[in-house]
Amino acid sequence: ELAAAGSSATGAAGEDSRHFQGGALRIRNLSMAYGELDVLKSVDLDIAAGTVTCIIGPSGSGKSTLLRCMNRLVEPKSGEMLLDGESILAMRPEKLRRRVGMVFQHFNLFPDHTALENVMLALTKIKKMPRQKARRIAEARLADVGLAARRDHRPAGLSGGQQQRVAIARALAMDPEVILFDEVTSALDPELVKGVLDLMATLGRQGMTMAVVTHEMGFARRVANQVVFMDEGRIIEAGSPQQIFDNPQSERLKRFLAEVL
Ligand code: ADP
Ligand code: MG
Repeated sequence: ELAAAGSSATGAAGEDSRHFQGGALRIRNLSMAYGELDVLKSVDLDIAAGTVTCIIGPSGSGKSTLLRCMNRLVEPKSGEMLLDGESILAMRPEKLRRRVGMVFQHFNLFPDHTALENVMLALTKIKKMPRQKARRIAEARLADVGLAARRDHRPAGLSGGQQQRVAIARALAMDPEVILFDEVTSALDPELVKGVLDLMATLGRQGMTMAVVTHEMGFARRVANQVVFMDEGRIIEAGSPQQIFDNPQSERLKRFLAEVL
């Protein structure tokens, strides 16, 4: 799986010869509420260009909401978010979503379209790209995720892991500067998880800026440059995997790790 993830597009030079120009994210004082319910409370977070940040924390702590704010799927109440110094809140959402891709737990593929068409649709609809060019790019991105041979299959004819890799290929096709991943392996059968995580690790090594909400602590420890622990709408601790997993400071993080590790 790992070899297949990057080799097709990069040829004999190997997977890591592909290099993304990841963008930097800077979040300050970000607050968000659903009605009366305060879900994010003054969150500050920096994600350096070309690095992987894993966001961990209990269910309901605001992890998904934080990602959704970064992509403007929900609008924050207050605060600031910058992508390479540009205000995310001042961008048109359509433009923002070309620069900041997102992959979801439940793939969100169109069931009546093939893998290739699913990837092409993002390019023809959102980027208004001619079909010929969109097809070429979609084929290359499917090859990148190891699915060149499956491009004419519909989602129902693919495993959950393959469907998720199509969703990642679709995000990559937009040529984003950042990709947000929200529990993308949580709905997968256990034997399919590794292929998706290996692909994500490859993207990280290739310089994509990634914010990854995950319950996969092994992945966070192995791949993350930074791990962020959230609880009740706040970032409680952030640091290297070693700091967070081997030397947690707060009682809340210690308790959380005792439950999940
Ligand atoms: P996590 O991803 O960490 O599980 P979420 O960001 O999904 O947390 O949710 C944070 C809080 O916001 C929870 O209390 C959740 O019930 C609430 N919430 C999430 N989505 C909505 C919504 N669309 N409307 C109202 N409340 C919501
Ligand atoms: Mg969530």
